[in-house]
Amino acid sequence: MIFKILKYPDHRLLQESAPIYDIDKIFINNTEVTVDELLDSMIETAKAANGCGLAAPQIGLNVCVCVCLLDDKWIKMINPEVSSNLLTETKVEGCLSLPGKKCSVRRYKDILVKYKETVNGNIITKFFSDQNARTIQHEVDHLKGVLIIKKTNEPTIFS
Ligand SMILES: [Zn+2]
Repeated sequence: MIFKILKYPDHRLLQESAPIYDIDKIFINNTEVTVDELLDSMIETAKAANGCGLAAPQIGLNVCVCVCLLDDKWIKMINPEVSSNLLTETKVEGCLSLPGKKCSVRRYKDILVKYKETVNGNIITKFFSDQNARTIQHEVDHLKGVLIIKKTNEPTIFS
């Protein structure tokens, strides 16, 4: 299933999402899907839009799940939590919910992420750096209702 990607300023993009515990099925567009099917469809949607990540609020669901393209592999993340050291780096980013806009965003270079790949799976703790760390932080920001236009100190570049 390919979802419609919401564009700013849709209010659902600006809301904080709820973590999911003990939920196996979710209603979307009047259809009941498992969390795993939802994540598969989110990967399909992100691929079709040429994106490298997608978070549930971008398809109108305020729950803490996202998918990220890391080293050419799609990774599903349920309830991701990021911790980091102090080293940061500023790079230009785009967002599927802000078509045609690019923003300079300062992010942590190295992060430790706790997440699950399946609802009933174990918690995975993994270290990511550089572009992979940036992609995850971008998607986790979506789960907090934060878009790149809020993170940038520099004027937005319209391309
Ligand atoms: Zn985005």
